[in-house]
Amino acid sequence: MRQFCDDASELHDLNISLFATPAEGLSGKFTKQDQETFGMIQGVTDREYYTNSFHIPVYYPMAAYRKIRSEAPFHELCNAGAISYVELDGNARQNTAAFRGIVQFVLLQNIGYFSVNHPIDRCPACRYEGMIGSVCPGCGALEADGHFQRLRRVTGYLTGNYTERFNSAKQAEVEDRVKHL
Ligand SMILES: [Zn+2]
Repeated sequence: MRQFCDDASELHDLNISLFATPAEGLSGKFTKQDQETFGMIQGVTDREYYTNSFHIPVYYPMAAYRKIRSEAPFHELCNAGAISYVELDGNARQNTAAFRGIVQFVLLQNIGYFSVNHPIDRCPACRYEGMIGSVCPGCGALEADGHFQRLRRVTGYLTGNYTERFNSAKQAEVEDRVKHL
């Protein structure tokens, strides 16, 4: 495809490119339209969103290395850009060896752009930073009492307190996302 784009660009003297679109809004909009047209099809239209681009579905359990290897061939097709990412289950700074291993593996693949997503929660009361459930491990503050800050990278942007900012389709996707261990 990349060669096709380059050849077509040359032939027509135009810039022709293929881009792995993030389509944050469309991932929900198209699903809704397809549900109206085709109904509920299990495994296809039965969620609020489509996983965007050529990414492995966000809810599909898969090891980080396998996900990277599975998506790598598609980068070759997208001469206008593409991204792959993995979701870690904790703060990457607490396991830099694993982080480095992932990055070094990516460098051996034909991947143009890559990110490692890892959750960062902060407790404003005691400044604890890491994964916080309903209780702060640092000071015992409760989610209900305080305002834990939850930073996530989901749509290409770092988003604090994401549940307040995303549309319902994107919120559903966030809830479904699995970690790649
Ligand atoms: Zn705390």
